[in-house]
Amino acid sequence: MSFPPIRPELAGIEPYGAPQLPADVAPVQLNVNENPYGPSDECVADIAASAAEAARTLNRYPDREFVALRTALASYLSRDVPGEITPDRVWAANGSNEVMLQLLQAFGGPGRTALSFAPTYSMYPEYARDTMTTWVAGRREDDFSLDLDRARAMVEEVRPDVVLLPSPNNPTGTALPPEAVTVLCEAVGGSAGSGGGIVVVDEAYGEFRRSGVPSALELLPAHRNLVVTRTMSKAFAAAGLRLGYLAADPAICDAIRVVRLPYHLSAVTQATALAALRHAPELLGNVDQLRAQRDKTVAWLRDQGLEVAESDANFCLFGTFGDRHAVWQGLLDRGVLIRETGPDGWLRVSIGTPTEMAAFEDALVAVMKEL
Ligand SMILES: *Cc1c(COP(=O)(O)O)cnc(C)c1O
Repeated sequence: MSFPPIRPELAGIEPYGAPQLPADVAPVQLNVNENPYGPSDECVADIAASAAEAARTLNRYPDREFVALRTALASYLSRDVPGEITPDRVWAANGSNEVMLQLLQAFGGPGRTALSFAPTYSMYPEYARDTMTTWVAGRREDDFSLDLDRARAMVEEVRPDVVLLPSPNNPTGTALPPEAVTVLCEAVGGSAGSGGGIVVVDEAYGEFRRSGVPSALELLPAHRNLVVTRTMSKAFAAAGLRLGYLAADPAICDAIRVVRLPYHLSAVTQATALAALRHAPELLGNVDQLRAQRDKTVAWLRDQGLEVAESDANFCLFGTFGDRHAVWQGLLDRGVLIRETGPDGWLRVSIGTPTEMAAFEDALVAVMKEL
């Protein structure tokens, strides 16, 4: 008998870990798609005051239904979409990763299937495994788009209970056109045994999409089985807060309440998130600059003769390299930490400040000379 007596399918598995290296080893951190701009002193002071206020009642459990926060998130989302998003259509948890896990706890499980199209977010198969949901991954095309006829055929064959799709996709940056969401919602709605399945469009990078690219939020009124998730970790410049959320039919939000842990959002998290939302214009204030820097980085990488996936996110997937690990290591040796992820031969770089991107470019030129 081996120890500890963990479920056999978990034995020997390495936990998720993009390397977290200290700033003296890697002063330029471009590996987990964070917003490089921190909050202003004024915003910090307001968040601190709100956390202090919450501290006065820490002897009590927080509002289990986090009504004030759901209301604030609903009005924040309503700015983006026609027709109001009401608080009963919003749900939140400690990062959208927890939202995703809760969705699989409620809508996946033994005997049920989750489907995505690879390359896709590396955490989805882990949540499927943890909830004992069968995991099936179809393929994207060579340009990382979805072929809708093939996707529909896959849905009809697999009959998934949950479809999970990031848009813009991580690690490729590819946004889904609205037709794709519609096709999937219709195919899934009609396919999975009794009542059909749900389609989760993970818009963690939604705020970075290029102009003219719509959000799946606009399709919510048309599809009861559509769930759109968002996060405060990326564009919102609050990865340390751990707050992710979704918009969906009220019945879907209600179903998640069955599986959530009691009081899962702490009083401090709720107060901090509310304060951050009051500063939304400031925290989102660098998004346009990051989008412009993204487009410049894509163009620069292409000028170096590299392949770069079209990106609607705050990162670029580029390659291809015979030995991508050597390139990753060469960059790290020069103080630049990026991510070794995606299909073989590709690397992903997050968009940082102009100074950080200049350091990345200089380091990559030097590394490529050595190849
Ligand atoms: C970063 C990311 C998230 C956000 O995760 P949080 O738990 O909200 O920090 C969600 N989905 C994808 C695809 C991501 O890349």
